[in-house]
Amino acid sequence: AVNRTIHPEDTLVKVNGVTFGEGMFQVIAGPCSVESEEQIIEVARSVKASGATLLRGGAFKPRTSPYAFMGLHEDGLRLLLKAKKETGLPVVTEIMNQTQLSLFEEIDVIQIGARNMQNFDLLRAVGRFNKPVLLKRGLANTLEELLMSAEYILSAGNSQVILCERGIRTFETATRNTLDLSAIPLLKQKSHLPVIVDPSHAAGLRNLVTPLARAAVAAGADGLMIETHNDPSRALCDGAQSLDLEQFSNLMADLKRRIAFE
Ligand code: PEP
Ligand code: MN
Repeated sequence: AVNRTIHPEDTLVKVNGVTFGEGMFQVIAGPCSVESEEQIIEVARSVKASGATLLRGGAFKPRTSPYAFMGLHEDGLRLLLKAKKETGLPVVTEIMNQTQLSLFEEIDVIQIGARNMQNFDLLRAVGRFNKPVLLKRGLANTLEELLMSAEYILSAGNSQVILCERGIRTFETATRNTLDLSAIPLLKQKSHLPVIVDPSHAAGLRNLVTPLARAAVAAGADGLMIETHNDPSRALCDGAQSLDLEQFSNLMADLKRRIAFE
């Protein structure tokens, strides 16, 4: 069970030599979408040099408009795995439905995005798959609902779940979403699962990413997910909230002054 009163010890999620939980701090960085071989390799090399411990990149993208860029699909997964091979960074990418599971065998962490947080068939399917899951909070879901979604995965047999606060919809329009900082201590008090924060999707604006990342660290997060692109102005998805490679490097230097990495 997800509930800490039933299971008091912290769960450690181990991904290819990288541990989430137990005071370790992990930074997942990379573009919203894998766009080309040159792009993902350049980003992977740079974020690794800056200290990121995992690489992200979407191949199947859940877009609001059916006419928007949807990702490179199988080619995107292949390029992400190429970047993994080049750099040694474990990779995180989003799954949209359970028919895609067989494509994810070599992916290190399966991301369930905000829009699929309550896709219960998908939750059960990744629960039966023996692979760490990054479960993002839904656009307008309570913490209790997030924890019940995690419960679907655990109850199907997979306890390797990382929770991710990525902002929720509120009346405020100055930011894309409102980062719920209370979610970090509350989720850690109520559950034994590691909790990370995605300030990029919360803010929607790159100038807010570093301050919100600092806030997440101060509130006790076990890690961060930071959208990072080699040329944000040309990004096919979420460029406005993406740091460029130098900004990511500066963020890591700032974080290293605040926390001890492994
Ligand atoms: C993403 O990580 O690119 C993404 C689509 O995030 P979310 O599901 O939190 O909107
Ligand atoms: Mn994105």
